[in-house]
Amino acid sequence: MGNDELESSNCSAQLESIDGSVAPLQDRFGRTFDYVRIAIIEKCNLRCTYCMPEEGVEFADKNMILNTDELLRTIRVLARLGIKKIRYTGGEPLMRKDILDLVRGANNTPGIKGVHLTTNGLLFPRLAKKLLDAGLMGVNISLDTLDPGKFKEITRRDGIEEVLESINLAVKLGFPRVKINVVLMRGFNENEIAAFTELTKDLPVTVRFIEFMPFDADQIWESGDHFASAQNIVDQIKSLYPGLEVAPGTRTEHYIFKAPGYAGKIAVIPAFTRNLCGNCSRIRLTADGAVRNCLYSDKDYDLRSLMREGCSDDEIITLFRYAYGEKAKDGFEAKKLSDQKIVNLDGLRQLRTSMTQIGG
Ligand code: SF4
Repeated sequence: MGNDELESSNCSAQLESIDGSVAPLQDRFGRTFDYVRIAIIEKCNLRCTYCMPEEGVEFADKNMILNTDELLRTIRVLARLGIKKIRYTGGEPLMRKDILDLVRGANNTPGIKGVHLTTNGLLFPRLAKKLLDAGLMGVNISLDTLDPGKFKEITRRDGIEEVLESINLAVKLGFPRVKINVVLMRGFNENEIAAFTELTKDLPVTVRFIEFMPFDADQIWESGDHFASAQNIVDQIKSLYPGLEVAPGTRTEHYIFKAPGYAGKIAVIPAFTRNLCGNCSRIRLTADGAVRNCLYSDKDYDLRSLMREGCSDDEIITLFRYAYGEKAKDGFEAKKLSDQKIVNLDGLRQLRTSMTQIGG
């Protein structure tokens, strides 16, 4: 979106209350947005096959990535728009040197009720206590297999011991929310549903089985061989654990259960089948400062340039209103619209296909 469009947008007039808040961010379908996922880095210390190619990944230059001040300013503005929950993702967010400042800064922003992050767990043990002290409320640790050989196969690196240590440490230190993200792939880890569920026997964690999505750099999704639907995963869990109880969860945890007598919960996330779109409440910001109004949209709204041109906070608000005014009804519509065009991003690359560029 250019600045001319910004100025001509009829969203720029804001009715402001005494505390600086403005009308909440809503789209034309009546959905209100109160949660932002911010990718703060594209780089990662793993190379998961469904996310990044092994070599030759083109990361944006460092000066293209939003810096600490720009990120915290965006969060302050988003808080005025009614955003309450922040999730830092990547890439691997713990590879950012300013991660503690980002957590502390977001946590100290009036209106923000919870700061969370998603990590692969490798760097977590050495930062965990400091992150907790900085105000981190929740940590989602990605782990797709409990088998060391398969871990190496899928991540192309070692490190399963550190990830398991991270899970135990997060619980021991008392993080209010500890979740384990498992991308479930047929023929790879589908046979580990019970083993993952058993982690919830003694640990108060939520194990989340996530549908495999078509954002893998190597396009292994395309064959269809590895896709297991959320319903299929739910059916498997139900047959493994008769007497499963429905438990409370977040909006994305559409299916959430507890095995009788277990300390933790298991959830299934329909990330591909997208039956949650009617309740969508999330905003996405890429590491290089583009607003994405849907995971399945490839249209970028260039917040970084706007900020670096010296915009006001109200212009940032206008950009978000504009981007969310254009949000499609659901992820299927967004994908259809995206298939019809290729969007240039500062002439740097044509299409983001890897999760690490969209922000996990
Ligand atoms: S697919 Fe798009 S609209 Fe649906 S829940 Fe995800 S981000 Fe929201």
